[in-house]
Amino acid sequence: MKLEENSQPVVETKQPDTNCEITPHYDEVMGYVEMPISKGYLDKCIPLVNFIETYQGEGPNCGKKMVLTRFKYCNLACPFCDTQKYTKELVPTLYSLKDVDVLLKTSPNLMITGGEPTLNNKVASDNELSQLESTIHMVRNLNYEFLDIETNGFNMPVLLNECDITAVERGKNINISWSPKFITEADREKNYTTLKYLISHSGYTVKPVIKIVIGDDMKEYEEFIYRAVTHYNFNSNRVYLMPKGTTYEEINHSMKRVLNVAHDLSCNVSSRLHILHSFA
Ligand code: SF4
Repeated sequence: MKLEENSQPVVETKQPDTNCEITPHYDEVMGYVEMPISKGYLDKCIPLVNFIETYQGEGPNCGKKMVLTRFKYCNLACPFCDTQKYTKELVPTLYSLKDVDVLLKTSPNLMITGGEPTLNNKVASDNELSQLESTIHMVRNLNYEFLDIETNGFNMPVLLNECDITAVERGKNINISWSPKFITEADREKNYTTLKYLISHSGYTVKPVIKIVIGDDMKEYEEFIYRAVTHYNFNSNRVYLMPKGTTYEEINHSMKRVLNVAHDLSCNVSSRLHILHSFA
């Protein structure tokens, strides 16, 4: 299948990195802090915009019913952000972990999204956990059947390490979806650093996927995913391309470009049900 479409970025190719490590290094993750879970941790408050029962609208688990927990703060300020009106808001919006745990009894799949859930901000009172702490508490302690975490990659080593320990020791089914953002030069460097980290730490049980939006004016995102697959040898079966747009017409238009790139790279596509059908 080949649809009419525009030019593709030219990228160099090279052999896979032969220095790949094949085993995790739980004790070597920079910034990793052991966080003992205190008695009564379920009473701790977490900085969420909201938590609701809904369906995953995109990516590898599209259509799955989930309890969505949307964290409040983010380290970035993307102009297209649908959570941004909350991310810079300084007044905490707090829910207890117990509230989330109760909802999981009837709806057992948990989605952690943002804002950036691994932002290690410290705010408010002693009873409030930072977003990173909250996420780690949720990964370790809540009674979900399946866990889907969405991140901009800000703290990937810590997140991956924590998820892998839980997956290995407790047999939990966990997916990490990484959606890199390209707003500043620093983001660009950070994204390539994160990509190299994933390539060189391929021995983790949890295998993060890259979920990325493609559109006519998203050249940098497109080039990144070409480089990730063809230059860095990131597994194309763990890449999900999604169409840019906020209306049916825009998404339909961008899907042509998505299909062309997916064809070239032999990767996956996903629509965006939450936008097409207006659910959270
Ligand atoms: S990374 Fe996500 S949550 Fe943060 S500003 Fe960008 S779009 Fe919004």
